[in-house]
Amino acid sequence: MNRTKPPSAVPAAKPSPTKTGAGRARAVKSRDGKAGVATATSPAERRLSGIAIVEGVAIGPVFGAVEPEIKPTPRRIQAADIEAERSRLDAAITQSKKQLVKLRARLDMLPEESQAEIAPLIDAYLQMLGPSRLTRGMRQRIEEGLVAAETAVHDAGEAMATAITALADEGGEQRASARRHADEVREISRRLIRNLTRQPFRSFAALPAGAVLVCEYLRPADVALLDPARLAAVAADEGGADGHTAIMLRALGVPSVLGVAELTAAAPPGTLAIVDGGKGEVILNPTPATLAEARRAVTSFARQRQQWARLKRLPAITTDHQEVELQANLELPAELPLIAQAGAAGIGLLRSEFLFMNRERIPNEDQQTEIYRGIIEAMGGDPVTIRVLDWSGEKEIDALIAEGLVPDLPPENPALSVRGLRLLLRQPDLFETQLAAILRAACAGPVRILLPMVTTIAELRLAREVFERVVRRLRRRGERLPEPLPPLGIMIETPAAALSADALALEADFFAIGSNDLTMYTLAVDRGEAIVAPLYDPLHPAVLRLMQFAIEAALLLRKPVSVCGELAANPKFTPLLLGLGLRSFSMNSSAVPRVKQAVRQVSAEACARFARRVMEQNDSSLIDELLSEFAEANE
Ligand code: PEP
Ligand code: MG
Repeated sequence: MNRTKPPSAVPAAKPSPTKTGAGRARAVKSRDGKAGVATATSPAERRLSGIAIVEGVAIGPVFGAVEPEIKPTPRRIQAADIEAERSRLDAAITQSKKQLVKLRARLDMLPEESQAEIAPLIDAYLQMLGPSRLTRGMRQRIEEGLVAAETAVHDAGEAMATAITALADEGGEQRASARRHADEVREISRRLIRNLTRQPFRSFAALPAGAVLVCEYLRPADVALLDPARLAAVAADEGGADGHTAIMLRALGVPSVLGVAELTAAAPPGTLAIVDGGKGEVILNPTPATLAEARRAVTSFARQRQQWARLKRLPAITTDHQEVELQANLELPAELPLIAQAGAAGIGLLRSEFLFMNRERIPNEDQQTEIYRGIIEAMGGDPVTIRVLDWSGEKEIDALIAEGLVPDLPPENPALSVRGLRLLLRQPDLFETQLAAILRAACAGPVRILLPMVTTIAELRLAREVFERVVRRLRRRGERLPEPLPPLGIMIETPAAALSADALALEADFFAIGSNDLTMYTLAVDRGEAIVAPLYDPLHPAVLRLMQFAIEAALLLRKPVSVCGELAANPKFTPLLLGLGLRSFSMNSSAVPRVKQAVRQVSAEACARFARRVMEQNDSSLIDELLSEFAEANE
């Protein structure tokens, strides 16, 4: 996963107010900071493909998200801290090397000329991170200058960069090359400082209205800072279809494309761009004909949205009168109005971790109670399923680090380490505070509590013990609690949970199938990683069989079962999911009308027959074809 890597930025420049930005010379900077001048001729149209994330077409000037200035506050240390600071530096060096090696591995996907330009640069960075004058200087500053690792990195980097430029003669090629080298030293220092301080990316304040945000990498916490009303579209070099960044972007409903190799290098700020989030395409410097076509697409998409809006008042019911519950996933309170607009019947997955992001401290019990109560009340009696904190390395939460609840440096393999319920069971205060807040807020409306990342029945039992302990404590305190108490359910998002679903169904009050992680863990494919994105396939028969087993286990014991992964949002999958017996779906709210339309077009009986046929297949591309055929036949 790329979760530790903040988005490195396209160098800042004011977006051109003109439509094309073409025909005028303007200063631009390439990704490695080398200055250049665009020629006076119109730049040629360029089409780059990536992964389609959020449908919709948008046109606007590129805004290169700028990294905040990385200048740590100078910090002195005691002699006793030298060892600890040296280890922090070593860990940051190792992490930076890994990031660069990963970046080099991805170069294979770029055209040869880009590889030729970038590969030597990465090698130079790696060399500097080895036993070099630069890293020796950093260590020396910690040991002799008694300063913290980030101060040592900054000061050593600056000193070396200044010395390099000072040594070069004035003017000429030698000076230009010295300046480039100094830039490289500064860049490597910045990377180390980012890794040491995990400095969040917060430079969206200057985002001009109507701009296309372009960056190398966007973290989920960054998306939480975006204002969808100001933004035309988002496109990034990295990212996969089902990573948390993609999920957050869907929540915002901004046309988005991720995994566009070479985008930041090709799109300097101000470049006019068309982002087609449905096709997964970014067009730079479009010709007038392409631009006219894109404008027509913008209009037709707006019309389609209006049609979906009309579906809002109609029930989600199959042609043979089976009622289906269509709920919304919620990541940010700001999405609440969208849920109402979409006509969702409650919240099927409140990803509570996003409420902990971009805060200095973890909200206390009273603050959390207020947040949950506000959401529950806004749903006006519709049910709300609150998933307790699902922390993982990807969803960086600074407050957890600041309060020492998670390690400063992420584990080697966060997806397989302490995440979700595993963290909560290790940090009972964190867990109990959240449960207490949910229980108190649950007097405001129907609530269910959902546990993430369960792999064993023992975890469920331990969680229930904590839940009961919290209930007893709240009762002793004289708090008013809902009667009956909220059901305690589990995510089925690991193969272990899916294959133990028969046993888990005896003790869990409900299941929510998380197809995103289930796909990732079953297929051993990182859901947020562009390079393996083609292998990420929720239609793989292994994933479908695990889902089928879990659904049947729940239905046998009459336990409610829903699906809340991205699979639920794709209307093409709706007949199969209905056919497997699901009657409850939770998805990003913008997908509700489409899925409702798909539900209203089919009979549950035909879907069941269809699902039997699908489950006989062992090739996912064939399954995909069958889904397309079924969808077309029922349109
Ligand atoms: C899932 O894994 O499918 C899920 C819904 O949880 P998240 O996407 O938040 O990991
Ligand atoms: Mg999950």
